[in-house]
Amino acid sequence: MAFATETVMNIRERILDIYMHKATGRYGLSDVNQLQHALQSASLAEARGEPQSLLVAALLHDIGHMIHDLGEDPARNGIDDTHEERAAEWLSAYFGPEVTEPIRLHVSAKRYLCAVDPNYLSKLSEDSARSLVLQGGPMSADEVSEFQRMPYYDAAVRLRRYDDLAKNSSAVTPGFEHFLPAIDVALSTGPAA
Ligand code: FE
Repeated sequence: MAFATETVMNIRERILDIYMHKATGRYGLSDVNQLQHALQSASLAEARGEPQSLLVAALLHDIGHMIHDLGEDPARNGIDDTHEERAAEWLSAYFGPEVTEPIRLHVSAKRYLCAVDPNYLSKLSEDSARSLVLQGGPMSADEVSEFQRMPYYDAAVRLRRYDDLAKNSSAVTPGFEHFLPAIDVALSTGPAA
């Protein structure tokens, strides 16, 4: 389904506005803010030669934290903001599943990795370990096999690895505008891809 140019322009501007004005909050307990975290995630995906759709997913995976009014760190107050669902729902009006599904599954991917990789579990950051409890803890064996049957689960796991590494206060990345062409390509494909 093709969107009217105006609608596509609006969402592009809206995304830019969010990252330029609302992404200044600290990313969990890390030393980076949401904008740096987004740019590092997308840059790591780009360095690995991921498709443009996964660059966009990496860039926007935490937008769900910036489109609610539950405050800056709801997890601190024991509230799961379900940012992955919030983001996927919002973005699915404009982007295809190759962008929205890895985003929707990136929290499940953490629960998955905690179940299949003991090393991963032991290396979770303090805030990530805290939110894991709110998110349901490591997956059970049944949940693991169910997860592995989901389309885009492997892209979600890769996104999760970039997400986890994207907390480096000394990393240098391109600016947001570097990723605008990838956003435009994903928008031109639209939600029916
Ligand atoms: Fe993240």
